Amino acid sequence: MALILRNATYWDGDSSNPGYGDVTCDGGVITGVHEPGRADRAGDDDVEMDLDGSFLLPGLIDAHVHLVWSGGADPAAVVEQEGEQLTVLRAGDHARAHLDAGITTIRDLGSNWDVAISVARAIDRGAIEGPTVIASGRTVIMTGGHDGFWGVASDGADAVVRAVRGQVLRGAGVIKTAATGGVYGRAEGEEVDDSELTFEELSALAHEAHRRGRKVAAHALGTEGIRNAVRAGIDTIEHGVFLTEDIIAEMARRRTVLCPTTETYYRIAESATTGNAPAYAVHKAGRVVEGQRVSVQMALDAGIPVIAGTDAGAPGMPHPTLVDELERLVEYGLTTHQALRGATSLAADALGNDRIGRIRPGARADLVMVDGDPFTSVDALRDLWGVVRAERVVRSRT
Ligand SMILES: [Zn+2]
Repeated sequence: MALILRNATYWDGDSSNPGYGDVTCDGGVITGVHEPGRADRAGDDDVEMDLDGSFLLPGLIDAHVHLVWSGGADPAAVVEQEGEQLTVLRAGDHARAHLDAGITTIRDLGSNWDVAISVARAIDRGAIEGPTVIASGRTVIMTGGHDGFWGVASDGADAVVRAVRGQVLRGAGVIKTAATGGVYGRAEGEEVDDSELTFEELSALAHEAHRRGRKVAAHALGTEGIRNAVRAGIDTIEHGVFLTEDIIAEMARRRTVLCPTTETYYRIAESATTGNAPAYAVHKAGRVVEGQRVSVQMALDAGIPVIAGTDAGAPGMPHPTLVDELERLVEYGLTTHQALRGATSLAADALGNDRIGRIRPGARADLVMVDGDPFTSVDALRDLWGVVRAERVVRSRT
């Protein structure tokens, strides 16, 4: 059974301009991109759709979510109150919400009890419907470090290596660590400028993760911690707020990726009036927002890949919130083309997966259809009318 999509204004995930024609899929993958009318006639078992000029894009990727979190004012407290079983069910619902919004792949960077790894498995096995989930499970942190509620406390090189091996054993598709304190998490005892795991510990962690074929994402806001993480060979810097020219140069040299998660801090900073986040977090977020406006521009100027991650689930960030993040990235200086690449091809590269994020033969048939022109405004992605995951039509107009 094949899927034939005719008369699409298709964007391949890389090019500056879209093309026009027919896209064919079979066996869960894209088999061809053809001149209009050149795709083979559909057989009896085939599904054929006429897009009538609508935009066809690669399925979107949100590179930073937390499926266990609700997006309410204090999501960690909700998890604590609900316990593991209710959290699992809610995480499954959140996953489905991403897929309905055209997000066909998410990277989950932190979950209590490794819940996101179980959700990833349930989706792979067809037990529930959702996007592809690349999950870290619990985070490798220092004793007393950021996100202690889902941390594997590990001190010294031997302990972090053991923690990485443990997460790989449990099914982690990516390793998450914390190089600095954070904005949200606990009222006292962590600041964004505090360095957490040391350069030596982060180096041992990255080496072991890479040896096991896993990329590493490091939560890092303050300058010293970001520098430690970049020099240690971490693949993606999450948040990356207080960058300096020497760090930027090192990131450019190593092709380190920046996943800034701008919208979450913007919303927390604004929450002084709305009460959408705890007061201690609101207090820290203002300075972070100002830092990000500068650091995102510095990264762009140096040609560092900037990818779209929302921190969906964090205070004020419901599932999904990807278009809001793309709009904020455009406000901070990305072109719409750069923003769209950050949610498709560049994110795929950052995740080390060459089967997603692009429309090309051999890629998985993950696709979205929208009426408006997302290059004019990324807001067009809100008017999405079709979602295809691995060739299966999950959502369509008819
Ligand atoms: Zn996060």
